[in-house]
Amino acid sequence: MNTRKKVLSKIVEEKHSFDKMDEPYNIEKEYGIDTFGLKTMEQYLSKPIYKRLRSTIENGVALDETVADDVAHAMKIWAMSRGATHYTHWFLPLTGSSAEKHDSFIEPTQDGGAITRFSGKNLILGEPDASSFPSGGLRSTFEARGYTAWDPASPAFIKRVGGVATLCIPTMFCSYTGEVLDKKTPLLRSIQVLGMQVKKLMKVFGVEDNNKHPTVTLGAEQEYFLVDKSLYIQRPDLMQTGRTLFGAPPQKHQQLDDHYFGAIKPRILNFMHDVERELWRIGIPAKTRHNEVAPAQFEIAPVFEEMNLANDHNVMVMEILRTTAEKHGLVCLLHEKPFSRINGSGKHNNWSVSYGEKNLLNPGSSPHENAIFLTTLCAVIKAVDTHADLLRASTAGAGNDHRLGASEAPPAIISIYLGEQLADIIDQIEMGEPKTSKNRKVLKIGVDTLPPLPTDATDRNRTSPFAFTGNKFEFRAPGASQSCSSPNIVLNTIVAEAIDEIAEHLAKLPKKDFQKGLQKLLQSIVKKHKRIIFNGDGYTDKWKREAQKLGLPNLPNTPSALKPYIAPKNIALFEKYGVFTASELHSRYEVFEEEYSKKIHIETAVALNMSKTIIMPACLKYLSRLAETSKAIADVKWGKNSEIDSKGKLISSLIEDLGKANNDLEKLVVENADSRSKLAMLGDMRTIVDQLELEIDDDLWQLPKYSEMLFVY
Ligand code: ADP
Ligand code: MG
Repeated sequence: MNTRKKVLSKIVEEKHSFDKMDEPYNIEKEYGIDTFGLKTMEQYLSKPIYKRLRSTIENGVALDETVADDVAHAMKIWAMSRGATHYTHWFLPLTGSSAEKHDSFIEPTQDGGAITRFSGKNLILGEPDASSFPSGGLRSTFEARGYTAWDPASPAFIKRVGGVATLCIPTMFCSYTGEVLDKKTPLLRSIQVLGMQVKKLMKVFGVEDNNKHPTVTLGAEQEYFLVDKSLYIQRPDLMQTGRTLFGAPPQKHQQLDDHYFGAIKPRILNFMHDVERELWRIGIPAKTRHNEVAPAQFEIAPVFEEMNLANDHNVMVMEILRTTAEKHGLVCLLHEKPFSRINGSGKHNNWSVSYGEKNLLNPGSSPHENAIFLTTLCAVIKAVDTHADLLRASTAGAGNDHRLGASEAPPAIISIYLGEQLADIIDQIEMGEPKTSKNRKVLKIGVDTLPPLPTDATDRNRTSPFAFTGNKFEFRAPGASQSCSSPNIVLNTIVAEAIDEIAEHLAKLPKKDFQKGLQKLLQSIVKKHKRIIFNGDGYTDKWKREAQKLGLPNLPNTPSALKPYIAPKNIALFEKYGVFTASELHSRYEVFEEEYSKKIHIETAVALNMSKTIIMPACLKYLSRLAETSKAIADVKWGKNSEIDSKGKLISSLIEDLGKANNDLEKLVVENADSRSKLAMLGDMRTIVDQLELEIDDDLWQLPKYSEMLFVY
């Protein structure tokens, strides 16, 4: 038996015992126990300090330095009571994951002993040596210092890894000169910008209220694959690139749709259960779990939260999925396309904005609420049509390229799905003047109420990248491994711009003409931007042609999709609202582009290595076996030898092809050719290898096959 087969039988033989009943979950004692949230703060801080910190958090203002020492002290006492000896400023650099550098609370004393100390200064500001984080030329190594600054809106939490507890303090990360180097700071800026414009709009509608705050909300549904670790470690491609670079499709995969929402296997359910408890422990409201479309694919979704918090939480969800999988002998794959021709993994970004308790994307029951709803809706339509290119840019990445544009996940063309009923309402707004249509009613904004809109899941169009789903927009293009930060920075900023322009226009209307003026404005927005609305099947070529005629951008791969970040119209937008400076945008563009070409380079090098050291040797062994058999058969003179002859010829010619592919790919690696040539050659090589996999003796094939990775767990 070869190693691969031995491992397979071991997985099957392994007795996972799942019969132990859990203690009942004690929500009071366990939920959020490891977060320094408001509840804990109240317990650990004096009343006046607590009140000041609370107002800091609620009003999004900077922390008063005079209370920082007290807060830090309380945080330390609490963290140590939870077993922590160290703290870290936890931040989100441009690498895609979180970063941390631990410092202990311990300080030595003169007499050889030690005390613990954690000052306000330690809490508020950190100074990690940040020279190795990507900055896209914003920071040269001689001024390598970076700053991390506490974000009190996201509570500190305890991270537990292998029994070690560390206090994590969510922070922003910027350079010595104040340029942002992370994914949190611009998100916070964009949230603030959108909030300001929402306030302005509320004022125009006469519902401004000093006790109400705008809140941008995010619910991130996270898809992932699980693979048994002992199979994973036999796939250098999975280990180093996150996706399989080779692998023939299994005979049975997802044709029968028998995995989606199917009964969850005990080993997986136990994993999910552990993940949820970990998440609840740090106050992440994990809610939904289910099997996804592809075999071995799953989803987890939390209840939506304020966006900054939800974004931090999504980073933690990804991390906890990974670390918990390890504990269960599994590996969690967050790559957008770990298995070719099998459904990929996305991250559905559910976005909305509320004012006080009222969700602006909820139609509401009065004509006035409906007017606000329709105005917000039109602002989103205007924003998405004006800046579809930016939304696409925000989801660009080497992994997501295999998803977007392929017939499965949302297409690379950004369009909006409204559903039949809302599309009809938009039509009515467009008609405007009653005389343009005899039979159809024209909706009078601010006078009429809307019919209740269905929020039912059956009404959803799964092929749309940007869908209205009852009381929120669901942006489906972001990839499973990507941070929610970039897509939401873009969404918040473009909607802020649209609301700004709408509010400016409405503010100029005399009070008596408000209703009519609003009706006209929304009509003109619909007329101008309705091309972005598409309720049909987004996977078809017909739509691609139609979208091209409409002038909608179709940016199929990362190098083209990143360009909008540095387009003058978009630089102007971000600068106007103070979300990014031009140099920050250029730096991001550079970082993302470099990340892309590095990833492609690594994939190419890994494929070459696997081909030369794993695949070719197996093929040669098989060929030599065939040759021996052929000789032996000839010796015994049993008759013709055509079966073995033709097999030998086929294998030998495929080996020739593979050898040539190896040489070609090696040249590209050595010369570090452009990504496009590398990807094309990678595709050619894959075709040969996948064909070989289907021809070679199963016993000689070392790499775990799709049928095994996707079904044996
Ligand atoms: P699905 O899209 O799978 O049918 P749901 O519609 O229930 O699932 O919700 C998907 C996600 O959208 C959940 O995380 C949910 O909390 C979130 N969500 C619901 N309302 C809002 C909102 N107003 N703003 C942001 N996210 C929301
Ligand atoms: Mg959804």
